[in-house]
Amino acid sequence: MLRVDVRELRHGPVATAGSLPAADPLFEGLGVALAEPLVISGSLETTARGDYFWKAQLASRAHVACRRCLKKFVLPVTVPVEAVFSTNPDLQDDPSVYPLMEPVASVDVTAAVREELALAAAAYPLCREDCAGLCPRCGADLNQGPCDCPGAKAH
Ligand SMILES: [Zn+2]
Ligand SMILES: [Zn+2]
Repeated sequence: MLRVDVRELRHGPVATAGSLPAADPLFEGLGVALAEPLVISGSLETTARGDYFWKAQLASRAHVACRRCLKKFVLPVTVPVEAVFSTNPDLQDDPSVYPLMEPVASVDVTAAVREELALAAAAYPLCREDCAGLCPRCGADLNQGPCDCPGAKAH
């Protein structure tokens, strides 16, 4: 359930759990190519100020390209999420706050799912910590061994 009825929140935190298919329209335009469904866990609760606090985790695997050698690989993706949903107009400039319209009947966390996944995807990965990358001169993949460029062995 990614949409929580606020009446349920009166009794305490409500678990949010769900999964979205890798090709869900929600992910369109994000530049993220998921290899598996996105699994969402977490819980939503009312704060003392009357806002809604969502602490969650998004998990999947994504097709990515190494930022050094451009090799394509599949990377496990886990995104911790802490988001506030609020009707308070004073908080609307805060990028971690998702606006709600009064009167609030339910809180739909999918807007935060899209946003948080986009933020996580902006970090370009490496295929491995010590990836040697490509030779800037000949473009050879230096993970396969040194190329024939003069001075290349100095790497
Ligand atoms: Zn690499
Ligand atoms: Zn080279």
